[in-house]
Amino acid sequence: MKKLTMEDLVNYCKQYGFIFQGSEIYNGLANSWDFGPLGTLLKENLRNAWKQKFVQENKYNYGLDAAIIMNPKVWVASGHVASFADPLIDCKKCKSRHRADKLIEDFTNGEVTADGWSNEEIEKYIAEHNIVCPVCGKMDYTPIRKFNLLFETSIGVTDDTKNTVYLRGETAQGIFTNFKNVERSMRAKVPFGICQTGKAFRNEITPGNFIFRTREFEQMELEFFCKPGTDLEWFGYWKNYCMDFLRTLGLDSEKLRMRDHAKEELAFYSKATTDIEYLFPMGWGELWGIADRTDYDLSVHQEHSGEDLRYLDPETNEKYLPYVIEPSVGLDRLLLAILANSYQVEEIGENDTREVLKINPALAPVKVNILPLVKKIHGEKATEIYSELCKKFSCSYDESGSIGKRYRRADAIGTPFCITIDDETINNNTVTVRNRDTMEQEVVNINDLEDYIVKAVTL
Ligand code: ATP
Repeated sequence: MKKLTMEDLVNYCKQYGFIFQGSEIYNGLANSWDFGPLGTLLKENLRNAWKQKFVQENKYNYGLDAAIIMNPKVWVASGHVASFADPLIDCKKCKSRHRADKLIEDFTNGEVTADGWSNEEIEKYIAEHNIVCPVCGKMDYTPIRKFNLLFETSIGVTDDTKNTVYLRGETAQGIFTNFKNVERSMRAKVPFGICQTGKAFRNEITPGNFIFRTREFEQMELEFFCKPGTDLEWFGYWKNYCMDFLRTLGLDSEKLRMRDHAKEELAFYSKATTDIEYLFPMGWGELWGIADRTDYDLSVHQEHSGEDLRYLDPETNEKYLPYVIEPSVGLDRLLLAILANSYQVEEIGENDTREVLKINPALAPVKVNILPLVKKIHGEKATEIYSELCKKFSCSYDESGSIGKRYRRADAIGTPFCITIDDETINNNTVTVRNRDTMEQEVVNINDLEDYIVKAVTL
């Protein structure tokens, strides 16, 4: 089978309505993408799968939906205003711009990461290892400059009342600032977690690789509050929980790996950090960051806000700031991994191929495709079945072209079931259900159809 490239994926996504270039009719806006009808459904299914696993099925966790624009003091306290910055380096010869830490990461194929390194350490490594500009092959860089990633905007209408505010650079801060609210209103006992999904914005220096790195993306974050001393145990628990979830979604085990950050890579407040990486078409890349953040976040918010954010342990009467374990994953990046993992051009028989998205049925944008064998004869019955099933599942209705062609269209977008309505449906109340992966057909009574589909599309 031919190796899948990112270009193949971009074309596929555009052709079938998953992802379009943003502002396309105005020649686009660099690295902005719009999710089309199928991309929207897939995104929603993935988000719901995460919520189900992390909120609904986990007895420790609660959900939250905090504001995107927060009091700017939040970002001062969190350290983002002072140091949410990437090391920027320019090639003097070809004027291309790079993230200096990523140059090292790419050069070493992900073996060395420069997270937490000083500018001097990064420059020294680049020089010592003769890491040339990936665009022109020369070795003539400007010194590193730090570039703040927060997007600024302002609230207020007149110049003298205008205040600078920020689009959130991560969803996590809305969780920390609501720690006490959730604890009190839900009568939550440590350990407990708060989950949030939503847009985050970063003025990335080097966005790219399709939706892998964009300036506007969606995060799915959990901040898990636990007693100091139990944190490393919970860190292990959440690492396995996340990996398990990715495997349940259908990502191949051999394309997933955990990479523990070495001591010198750790952020100064972090006790341990592990990235779950996926083998994307362009190589290994971070999919999910899991960090033991100690009590750093709650302590800076306590200090800057003046609010007592300590937890009173009802059993021991002890007051303490909980430690935090943060598993943080990008929804768009996960969606890219799922598509890359599922898309295939499969050989079926001699000189015949089919495009198929072998995606977990629970994530498939459309669950059922309904096909009247002959429009004039079976259309009415097919419409009736469609009207019932679409109350439960996302369905499509396809009456044009040969059955074979209609199957192919459904395969290409990953629809797990094609249901053909024929004379047997009218005479015997049965339909033929064709399975996307095996391409085998089965006769199912209409009364059993809903259960049949529910079973197959539940995670
Ligand atoms: P990177 O080193 O790739 O810039 P990061 O370590 O800054 O990522 P985190 O701040 O830990 O990333 O964000 C958590 C998750 O959010 C990442 O694992 C990734 O899945 C996602 N993410 C971060 N930045 C982007 C982006 N610019 N575009 C899309 N997803 C992103």
